[in-house]
Amino acid sequence: METHARVPLGVAVGLAGCWVLFALIVREPALDSPGFATVWPAGGVAALWFLLRAARPLSIDTALLAAAAVGVNMVLGADPPLNGVFTVTNVAQTLFAAWLLRRWCPGLWGCGGDRPLDRPRMLPRFGTALAVASAAGALLGTAGAALVTGQPDVMAGVLFFGRNLVSALIVVTLGIVLGHWLSRPRPRPSLLHDATVVELVAATVFTGAMYGLAFAFDALPLVFPLLGATVWFGLRFSTVVGAAHSFAVGVATQTLTMTGVGPFAAVERSDVGSLLAEFYIATIVVTGLALSTGRDERQALAVELRRTQQEAVYQVSIREAVIGSMTEGLFVLDDTGELLVHNAAAAEIFGLPVAGLTWQELATRSGRWVDGVPMSEAERPSVRALTGEAVHDAELLVKRGDGTDGVVSVSAIPLPRDQLRGRSRALVLFRDISTEHARREELATFAGVVAHDLRNPLAAIDGWTEMLADELDAHTLTPDLTREFVSRVQSSSRRMHQLIRDLLAHATSGQRDLEVGQVDIAELVGEVAAARHAELQVSVEPVPPVLADPVLMRQVLDNLVGNALKYVAPGVEPQVTVRGCRSDTRMVTVNVADNGIGIPPGEQERIFEEFHRAHERDYEGSGLGLAIVRRIIARHDGTIVVRPNPTGQGSVFEFTLPAYD
Ligand code: ADP
Repeated sequence: METHARVPLGVAVGLAGCWVLFALIVREPALDSPGFATVWPAGGVAALWFLLRAARPLSIDTALLAAAAVGVNMVLGADPPLNGVFTVTNVAQTLFAAWLLRRWCPGLWGCGGDRPLDRPRMLPRFGTALAVASAAGALLGTAGAALVTGQPDVMAGVLFFGRNLVSALIVVTLGIVLGHWLSRPRPRPSLLHDATVVELVAATVFTGAMYGLAFAFDALPLVFPLLGATVWFGLRFSTVVGAAHSFAVGVATQTLTMTGVGPFAAVERSDVGSLLAEFYIATIVVTGLALSTGRDERQALAVELRRTQQEAVYQVSIREAVIGSMTEGLFVLDDTGELLVHNAAAAEIFGLPVAGLTWQELATRSGRWVDGVPMSEAERPSVRALTGEAVHDAELLVKRGDGTDGVVSVSAIPLPRDQLRGRSRALVLFRDISTEHARREELATFAGVVAHDLRNPLAAIDGWTEMLADELDAHTLTPDLTREFVSRVQSSSRRMHQLIRDLLAHATSGQRDLEVGQVDIAELVGEVAAARHAELQVSVEPVPPVLADPVLMRQVLDNLVGNALKYVAPGVEPQVTVRGCRSDTRMVTVNVADNGIGIPPGEQERIFEEFHRAHERDYEGSGLGLAIVRRIIARHDGTIVVRPNPTGQGSVFEFTLPAYD
C-alpha cells in the first residue's frame, strides 16, 4: 500500500519538461549516435517521475514520455526507425527502473514506503535496481540500433549504460531524499544537520576551489582532492544537502567533460574520457550516500540508545519509588545468597541498618517458625522459592537488631531465571505481624477464659437443678431445701450476668470513640456512691477538672469504688477516700484509697491483667474490672498504679488524667 500520495499530474508534466530540457541541452557532439547518447541526465528524471507517479505501462505518464522521446529524438536528428528504437528503449527502461525500485526497496519513500534513505544496507539494492534497469535499457537500445543500422556499436551501448546509471543515481537519489524531507511535517529537520551556514559556505567554496583547480590544471592528476569535498558534505550536512552536492558536482563534471574541459576530457579518446567521468561521478555519489546514510544510522542508533537509557533510568526511578514506599519488607535473592534488591522496610522490620544488609544476617535472625520450632534450611520460604515453589503467608519468628522478638508473615515467589548469569532468583515479601499475632494470642486466651468462666456458673446451675429434681422425685424436698437450691441457682446466674456485663464493658471500652469534655471526678464519685447506697462509706474531696469521656470515667470510678467497698475483711466497715490534685501543668492525679485487705505482694501489676484475680476464693468477680480501668485510663493518655495505703491498712489506686485547662 502506498504510504505517501502519488504526486499530481502537474508535477509529472513538470518532470517531463525537465526531461525534454535535459535531453535537448545536454548533448555530446563528439559521439556518433546523438539521439541515443544525449539523453543525459534525462534518464534519471524520467525514472524519478515514474517512481513518484507509480506509473503503469498503460498510463498517461507513459504516453507523455513516449511523445516527449519521439519529439526529442526527431529534434536530435534520429531517423524514424532509430527514433522508434530509442523511444521504446527510453520508455521501457524507465518503467523497468521504477518497477524494480518499488519491488526491491518497498519501504523507501517514493518506492511505496515512508522510510528515508538512511541506512547503508539499503544502498546495494537501490544501486543494483538502477544498474539493472540501465543495463537492460543499454542492451535493448544497442540491439535495436544494431538491427536498424546493421552495425552493432558496443561502445555506444556501454556509454549509454554509464550515463543512464549515473543520471539515475544522482537524480533519483536527490529526488527521493528531497521528497522525503519535504513530506515531513514542519518544523522539518535542519538541512544543515549539525553544521552552520558558515561551514556550508566554506564547504561550497572548498568544492568550487578544488573542482576549479582539477579542471583548470588538467595536466596534473588533481582529481583525488575532489573526494575530500564529498566526504565533507557526506559527514557534516544532511543527506539532502549531500545528495544535492553530488548532483551539482556530477552535472558539472559531466558537462565540463562533454565540453572538452578538465582531466576526463584530456584523455585521448573522448568516449573513454566520458566513461571515466561517469565512473568518477558514480563513485562520488555512492561514497557521499554511504557516508551520510552511515552517519544517519549511527545517529538514529545513538538517539535510540539515549531514549532507551532514559526509559531505563525512568523505570528504575519508578521501581525504586514504589519499592521504597512499601511498608512491606521486600528483597530479591539469588541462589548464591546474594541480596540483589531490598527496600528500607526490609531492614526496618528486622531493626537493622538499611546499608550493608545481607541475606545471611536475615537468615540467622529468622530461623524459627512462629511456634518456636527451628526451621531446616530446605524449609525456608526463600529457599523453597529458589527451587521454584511459591510460598504464601508463612509465619516466622524473628530476632530483631535490638534483641526483641517479632513475628513476620512471609510470602516467597520464584522469579524468572537470570539467563545471563545462570542463577535462580526469588522475590520475598514480608510484613511485621507482631502486634496482630499478640492480639490473636490474647484473643485466644481471652476466649478460653471466657468459655471457662461462663461454664463454671452454668455447671453449678446444672448441678443444683439436678439435685432439686432428685429431691423432688424422692419427695424429700422441703421448703428450706428448695430456698437453698434456688438461692444457689440465683447466685450462679448473677455471676453469669456480672461476667457478661463485664465482657461487654471490656469489649466496648477499647472501641467506643472518646467524647471528651470537662469532667468533675468528685461529682461522679458522689453519683457512683449514691447508686451503691454507700454515701456514708465514701468520702470525696474536690478534684481539679479533667478532660475526659464522662461515660467511660463513670465506669472507671464505679470499678475502683466498687472494689474498694468489696475487698474488705469480714466485719470491717469499708472507708473509701477520693482526692485529687494537679500533678504537673498538664495532668491531674486522682487517689482512691481504701481500708480493705490490700493487694498481696507481687500482685500489684498482675491485677490489671484480664481475668487475673488476687482473692479468688472469698470474693465474687470476673477479674475484668481493673483491665477495663487500665485500658480506659491509657486511652486518655494517663497511667494507673496501686500501692499499699500509707496508713498501713488497705490500698491506694492512683491514676492520672489530662487536666481540663
Ligand atoms: P474482680 O473484682 O471482678 O475480681 P478486678 O479486675 O476489678 O476484678 O480486680 C482484680 C483483682 O484485684 C481482684 O480479684 C482483687 O483480687 C484485686 N483487687 C482489686 N481491687 C482491690 C482492692 N481495692 N483491694 C484489694 N484487692 C483488690
